[in-house]
Amino acid sequence: MTEESAGPARSAFVTGASRGLGAAIAKDLAAQGYRVVGTARNPAEDVVDGVSFVACDVTDPESIRSAVARARDLVGTIDIVVTSAGIMHDGPLVSLPQEAVDDVITTNLLGSVNVARETLGDMMMNQWGRLVFVGSVVAMWGSPGQVNYGASKGGLVGAARSLAWELGRFGVTVNVVLPGLIDTGMAANVSAKRHKELMAGTPMRRPGRPEEVTSLVSYLVSEGAGYITGASIPVSGGAGMGL
Ligand code: NDP
Repeated sequence: MTEESAGPARSAFVTGASRGLGAAIAKDLAAQGYRVVGTARNPAEDVVDGVSFVACDVTDPESIRSAVARARDLVGTIDIVVTSAGIMHDGPLVSLPQEAVDDVITTNLLGSVNVARETLGDMMMNQWGRLVFVGSVVAMWGSPGQVNYGASKGGLVGAARSLAWELGRFGVTVNVVLPGLIDTGMAANVSAKRHKELMAGTPMRRPGRPEEVTSLVSYLVSEGAGYITGASIPVSGGAGMGL
């Protein structure tokens, strides 16, 4: 990724942008001409034209503050935030180490809420903004061995709904995308047995592709999506439909 970004369009701050869905989202927004700052703890695997990279650990509020400040130096005030930073540490709750519970909720839920907290002032001031949390269909569906993960993703749904109320009058929308199993590094950690179960519960009978998530995110951050807020939208091949 380059330190310079170009283009007159709106600016976007994307977490978890070093690989997987976050990288795909950052790349897609940059290709459309947004001025994008991608963040993660470690540098991105691939250099992406038009995306500036800033280190940020979303579990550390001070790291978030300095990354947002650096992003403002690079692209100006933040118009769009997409939080994709996330981890899994699965296991039955009865035997799950305390650290696994805390780390997943701190990264996935508190990380997103604290990034939103640090950036929404810009959007309120500009009377325009788009916040998209990357949740999971697990928030609605549940999943054995994922109590910590499900709590973190379900929490994002509640956070987005409350934030939608707080920010609607400022022209700022807040939404959650709920991916099912998507072909990324994270999905590679799913056991063969669980993969088979998930596909049995997925009408499309295949994992999703990152670009099938980026197209939804791309719409939600667009001008045309200005009347969609507080929504949690599955992109799951039909898994968990109706919940
Ligand atoms: P990956 O493991 O491929 O990427 C995760 C990203 O999050 C990396 O860029 C990683 O970078 C970053 N990250 C992890 N911890 C932190 C941290 N503490 N601070 C900042 N960045 C962090 O996962 P995916 O791309 O597959 O997943 C992205 C999101 O999508 C996650 O929230 C996940 O829960 C969600 N999701 C994924 C699904 C899937 O099947 N892939 C399904 C449903 C939801 P680094 O380690 O360098 O910090």
